Amino acid sequence: MILVTGGAGYIGSHVVRDLADRGYSVLVIDNLTTGHIEAVDKRAIFIQGDVGDPKLLERIFKTYSIQAVMHFAASCLVGESVVNPLKYYQNNVVETVRLLQKMNEYHIKHFIFSSTCATYGIPNQSTIHEKLPTNPINPYGKSKLMVETMLNSNSDSDDLNYIALRYFNVAGAYHSGEIGEDHDPETHLIPNILRHLQGKSPYIEIFGDDYATPDGTCIRDYIHVTDLSAGHILALEYLLKNQGQKTAEIFNLGNERGVSVLEMINLCEQVAGAKANVKIQPRRKGDPPQLVASSQKIRGVLGWAPRYDIKSTIETAWNWHQKHPNGYN
Ligand code: UDP
Repeated sequence: MILVTGGAGYIGSHVVRDLADRGYSVLVIDNLTTGHIEAVDKRAIFIQGDVGDPKLLERIFKTYSIQAVMHFAASCLVGESVVNPLKYYQNNVVETVRLLQKMNEYHIKHFIFSSTCATYGIPNQSTIHEKLPTNPINPYGKSKLMVETMLNSNSDSDDLNYIALRYFNVAGAYHSGEIGEDHDPETHLIPNILRHLQGKSPYIEIFGDDYATPDGTCIRDYIHVTDLSAGHILALEYLLKNQGQKTAEIFNLGNERGVSVLEMINLCEQVAGAKANVKIQPRRKGDPPQLVASSQKIRGVLGWAPRYDIKSTIETAWNWHQKHPNGYN
């Protein structure tokens, strides 16, 4: 059985569905602070609770034979992390330490970690590969890098096999439109644009148009949530296949294509067939100007390749927003 923490969240819920499709038994823990019970695939066992609750973990590890843990439960908003850093160190670092301690106790050896491109900070080159130095500029990125550091030390001392996946900007929704992105408050670019184009807000804010990028707005690399999920399944199968071998790997997961905020507004307008009102705002604290992945390592080692381009990613997000104008509620 695979334990998925945060399996009621946006990314976790997509991975749970894909795991179940591939015949894995899945157990989800989620405290439902930001996740949605409606998003959890009915084939999974669901337990409501905190990943850092030792009693709950003990009960789970005693009752079920857990082969591997996929750890999605986390706080993951760059802007919020600048305003409330301790929340990030508590939820992303302290809770993960507790989870890893219990895994050690029960000899659970396989771990897949949701990391982030925010670990890189402001790289001095336009395409980011895994060997570049990590200098995160916000508490979110710092908290994720701390966990990567812990995993590395723990792997040396305790034979933990892990793969940390550094996500670039995750977007889109399940192809059927049954599950998708629903945050409250919503802070991410694509849902904010699409909700605006649905008439739910008077304008879309652009946080900074004076960056050193071709059109002055920030550039990000957007990856479809289904492609991201496929990366997790490949990572899991790699760990399970190479049981006897030590695995301690970090892979970027991105599409290798940078899209600026202005370009994204334009693409969303094309998909939705509507025109956006934009309002230029000051820069948002903690935002690097440009983050674009090299995903050569995961392509080479795990054979991963993205199937969605940016337009089809937006189309699936638009489909979700149209089917669920008020999210899961
Ligand atoms: N952004 C924006 N308006 C919004 C939301 C985001 O201009 O309403 C910008 C944000 O400043 C960043 C980019 O869009 O440069 C992507 O932000 P998002 O929050 O989606 O993801 P992040 O890169 O912070 O993980």
